[in-house]
Amino acid sequence: MESATINRVRLWLRSERAFGLSSVPARASAVVEQEEQEQAELSTTHGAQHPDRALFASVAAPKNTASRAQADSSQARPAQQPAQAFDAPHLSTAEKKSRLIAMDSNEVRGCTKCRLCEKRTNTVFGEGNVDAGIVFIGEGPGENEDLQGRPFVGRAGEMLNKWIAAMGLRREDVYIANIVKCRPPNNREPAPDEVATCTPYLQRQLEIIRPKVIVTLGLPSLKHMTGDAKLAMGRSRGIWREWRGIKLMPTFHPAYILRNYTDETRAAVWSDLKMVMAELGMPVPKR
Ligand code: SF4
Repeated sequence: MESATINRVRLWLRSERAFGLSSVPARASAVVEQEEQEQAELSTTHGAQHPDRALFASVAAPKNTASRAQADSSQARPAQQPAQAFDAPHLSTAEKKSRLIAMDSNEVRGCTKCRLCEKRTNTVFGEGNVDAGIVFIGEGPGENEDLQGRPFVGRAGEMLNKWIAAMGLRREDVYIANIVKCRPPNNREPAPDEVATCTPYLQRQLEIIRPKVIVTLGLPSLKHMTGDAKLAMGRSRGIWREWRGIKLMPTFHPAYILRNYTDETRAAVWSDLKMVMAELGMPVPKR
């Protein structure tokens, strides 16, 4: 089978497995084993050759990408105008790491600027590739994240990892952060004053990383990043917006999908992620 065909089938199988949207037909089963083997080889190769660079610059766009992106953009509402132009300087990988480590060590870990510091076990700064093309932004740490000091490490984190894998990426290829760095008690939504106090950290992280796309996970994250408190998740997901000139794709929070595990919700997330892949020139499964 030609490699292009194998690649298309592999992408489709990967997405179908991750999201469980439909059964795998018999004619595709012959390439399952090869797909798994190739996936393992690709992961190894990718890690060996590109450990620490911008993710998507060298990924060639497939022939269908332009038309898909065109179709997606034709359905989009006008993107929100950025309140402030994004004019942060491009930094080297080493400089990005240095600045992020310094911010975490010297400012966030000891931060007592809002009441969320009182009940936290650990701050959760964020983690991932400082040159990532995609930054996923959630609402705030949960219990597991608070205990481990890492974002998205519980069941919702496992779900997010599947989404990332379905996109053909590894967790360490993207960057993951939250609106607030400390766990709100009982997993409540962060209060507006807590968000206002904490988000300068996130803004500085984004200025340092300069991703090509931001993916907000859940409504609180979307509301903060857009500054629009009236948004509804169902009507907002899948529609491009902007944060200071960076394209922003809203989608559901993985925890919501775990609670509402239906074909419709999973298809919606996968549709959103495919739009992100097309925007970044990544190979996009046709189905
Ligand atoms: S939530 Fe943010 S602002 Fe509040 S104490 Fe934690 S790090 Fe500081």
